[in-house]
This record gives sequence, C-alpha cells and structure tokens, in this order.
Amino acid sequence: MAKGHLWAEADKYADDLKSNRGTLRDELAELEKLKSKVRALIAAADIADDRSEEYGHFPDTKPLCPRCWMHYGEKQPLRQIDDPTHWAAYRCKECKQTYRFLPKEAS
Ligand SMILES: [Zn+2]
Repeated sequence: MAKGHLWAEADKYADDLKSNRGTLRDELAELEKLKSKVRALIAAADIADDRSEEYGHFPDTKPLCPRCWMHYGEKQPLRQIDDPTHWAAYRCKECKQTYRFLPKEAS
C-alpha cells in the first residue's frame, strides 16, 4: 500500500501551503484593496450624472479638479500652469491630473 508515500506527499503540500501563507495573505490584502477601489468606482458611476451636473454649477472663480470630483466627490483646487502652446492649462495637486485646452477656434 502506498499510503505512507501519499501521506509524505500530503506533508509536502502542507509545507508548501504553510510557507506560502504570508504571500497569500499579502495577495489577499491587495485584492481587498482592489475590491474596495472597484466598489468606490462603481458607486461613483452610479451617481456620475448627478456629480457632473453639480460640477457645472460650481463657481468659475476657483477651478476644481473634475477627476477628483467625479471619482471621490472631493473639491480639489486646480493650479494654473504655464503652457505657451495652450490657451489654458491646469494641474491638480491631489491626483496630479493635468488639463490642457486649446483656444476654441483651434479645437
Ligand atoms: Zn484631482
């Protein structure tokens, strides 16, 4: 009977599983982070039209990052940046997104 040999194989699997436990926990933690991020994006998608509408009503005096608003509902100010090839250019300090716009007649 090969039971002794099969048991030895089971023991090897046990050793493999135990030695990978830390890596597997790390992978699970990463997956949990990804799940949380995806859930937040789905929730943002569910209210995207409302947020977009609300963005349109913000005052023009202080430009806010559209991405931060749409993804997280956060009002992050944009900083105007120099870009001689564009009519206007802004960067978000929070998410680092850059927005560049050509003059209306060129676009
Ligand atoms: Zn942003």
